[in-house]
Amino acid sequence: AALYKIDGWGAPYFSVNSSGNIAVHPYGTDTLAHQEIDLMKIMRKVSDPKSMGGLGLQLPLIVRLPDILKNRIESLQSAFNYAIHSQGFEAHYQGVYPVKCNQDRFVVEDIVRFGSPFRFGLEAGSKPELLLAMSCLCKGNPDSFLVCNGFKDAEYISLALLARKLALNTVIVLEQEEELDLVLEMSKKLSIRPVIGVRAKLRTKHSGHFGSTSGEKGKFGLTTTQILRVVKKLEGAGMLDCLQLLHFHIGSQIPSTALLADGVGEAAQIYCELVRLGAQMQVLDIGGGLGIDYDGSKSGDSDISVAYGLEEYAHAVVQAVKFVCDRKNIKHPVLCSESGRAIVSHHSILIFEAVSASMSSAAASMTSAGFQYFVDGLTEDAISDYRNLTSAAMRGENDTCLLYADQLKQRCVDQFKEGSIGMEQLAAVDSLCELVGKAVGLSDPIRTYHVNLSVFTSIPDFWGIGQLFPIVPIHRLDQRPAVRGILSDLTCDSDGKIDKFIGGESSLPLHEIEGGRYYLGMFLGGAYEEALGGVHNLFGGPSVVRVSQSDGPHSFAVTRAVPGPSCGDVLRVMQHEPELMFETLKHRAEEYCHHDEDSDDSDGDHHMGNATLASSLARSFHNMPYLVAS
Ligand code: PLP
Repeated sequence: AALYKIDGWGAPYFSVNSSGNIAVHPYGTDTLAHQEIDLMKIMRKVSDPKSMGGLGLQLPLIVRLPDILKNRIESLQSAFNYAIHSQGFEAHYQGVYPVKCNQDRFVVEDIVRFGSPFRFGLEAGSKPELLLAMSCLCKGNPDSFLVCNGFKDAEYISLALLARKLALNTVIVLEQEEELDLVLEMSKKLSIRPVIGVRAKLRTKHSGHFGSTSGEKGKFGLTTTQILRVVKKLEGAGMLDCLQLLHFHIGSQIPSTALLADGVGEAAQIYCELVRLGAQMQVLDIGGGLGIDYDGSKSGDSDISVAYGLEEYAHAVVQAVKFVCDRKNIKHPVLCSESGRAIVSHHSILIFEAVSASMSSAAASMTSAGFQYFVDGLTEDAISDYRNLTSAAMRGENDTCLLYADQLKQRCVDQFKEGSIGMEQLAAVDSLCELVGKAVGLSDPIRTYHVNLSVFTSIPDFWGIGQLFPIVPIHRLDQRPAVRGILSDLTCDSDGKIDKFIGGESSLPLHEIEGGRYYLGMFLGGAYEEALGGVHNLFGGPSVVRVSQSDGPHSFAVTRAVPGPSCGDVLRVMQHEPELMFETLKHRAEEYCHHDEDSDDSDGDHHMGNATLASSLARSFHNMPYLVAS
C-alpha cells in the first residue's frame, strides 16, 4: 500500500486487505457498520458467465459504487453544516451537482436521490444537460436548485423558463451580457417570471491548468461594467427583483484555501453591492473547484494535488462570506457550490488487464552464437569499433564502452540502410548495445506492459492535458513487485501509453505476469473521463457494473451490468451500418466459400463452412473491440 501511496489518495475508501487485494470501504474505514468489498471478487463475479446469467462481462470494466456517491454528498453537506453551525452563519448550504462531470443516467439519478434530504440540486451547461437535469429533478426535492449555466440561445432559455413552469427551482445564470435580452424577451413571450443569476468574472486568478478561464481575461462571466448594465436593464424592465443569485467559477482543482477565500471574498463583495443596488439577492453560488488530491501528497503545489479536505474547504468559504457580509451588515446568503469532481471521482474504478509484458529491447534474445555471426560482413571500421568496445569493457572503462557502442550501432544502421547487413545482425547490435548500457548502469530495465485498454477512450485527460490518476494492481499487493513498467494501450498510436505516474514517477512498480492474469485499476477517474473519451481506433467505452453494499455473503450486490459497446456499436458511431456490412460479407462468403458446414473435404483440408463463417462474422460484430481473454 505504501509503495502505491494508497493511504494518501485512497483514504478512507480504498485499502489493501489481508488477501493482498484492493478493498473498498464505501462509508470509510472508521465505521464498523459496513463490510469491505473486495475488488477482485467483483471483477471475478461479473466476468464469469456462469454467475451473471450468461452475461460474463468483458474488460475493461468500470465499477461504480453508488454508496461512495452517497457518502461524498453526505460528507460535503456535513462539512458545510459544521462550518455554518460552528461559525454562527445564518443561512444554509445547498449544493448542486454539475452534470458535465458525469452525465450517466444512473449517476445523476443516484445523486438526486441521495441529495434529496439536503435539497441538493443539479447544474446544466447545455440543452441536453438541461433536459436530463429537468427530468431527473422531477423525482427530487422541489426546493433543489436547477442552475442553468453555459452559452444560451432562445431555445435554451425557453426550456429553462419552462422548467420554472414545471415547478423546478430554476435559475438562469447569465454568462454573456446578450443573454439578458433573450431572457427578457422569452419570459415576456411565455409569461413566466424568471429567477436570474449572473456569473461574475472575478479578478482573483487561479494560476493552475484549470484556472485558465479565470481572471479578467477569462472566457466566461460578466465584467463589473457588464454586471452594472444588467442591473440597470433589469431595473428598467421592472425585474430587478428577479436577480437573486451571484455565481462565479475560478476553475477546477483550486489548489489552496487561501486562493479559495480570496475568490469567495471578492464574490461576497459583489454580492453585497448587488444587494445595495436593489437586487433581491438570495444565493451565492461559488461554482466548482473543490479539488481532489490525486497523488495523496496534500501539497497543493501541482494541478493534481490540493492542500485541503472537505472540512477546510467549507470552513474557508463560510468564513470568507461571513466576514464580508457582517462588515456590510448584509443578510447571509444561501451558499451553493457546484462541486463535481469532488462528488463523483471516487465512486468509479476502471479495471483493466495487462495482457503481456516485454522488455524495452531485445537483450534477452542475444546469444553467443549471435555475437559470432554478427561480426561477419561488418565493415572494417565497425569491426574495429567492436574490438575497441570489447577491450574497453575488459579495462572497465564505461564511458569508452558507450562511445564505441554508439559508434558501432550507427555504422551498422548505415550498413543496414545500404543493404549490406541483414535484420538479424541489426538486431544483434541493438542487443549488444543494450547489454553494454545495462552493464554500465545506464539503461533502466523498464518493461512495457500491454494493457487491454484505450487511453483515448478511458483516460482522455492523461492524453489531452497530462492529468495523472493513481494506477495500482488490484491484487498481489501482499507480494513485493519485482519490476517496473510503463503501460501501453491497444491503439496504434504512440500517444496511447502511460509513462507518467503520481509521485513524479516515470514507471510503475509491477509484478511479473508469469502466465497468470494481472489486473490493474485506475482510481479517482469518476469525473469528466467518460464523456470526454473518444473512439480512436474504434475502441468504445468499457463495460459498466453498479455494485452496492449488501449484507449478503459477498458484502456486495451487482445491481446493474451493461456490456461495453460492441464492434457494431462503435462502427455505427462513424456512420457504418453493421447490419448491411454483415449482409455484404455474408453474400461474399456464399459467393466464394462453397463448402457447407458438413461437406466432405475430398482434399483433406479443413474448410470453414458458410454457416460457421457467418456465425463467426456475427460474433465479431457483436463482441467488444478489446482483446478477449483466452
Ligand atoms: N461549475 C462550472 C461552471 C464549471 O465550469 C465546472 C467545471 O469546471 C464545475 C462547476 C465543476 O467543477 P469541479 O469539477 O471542479 O467541481
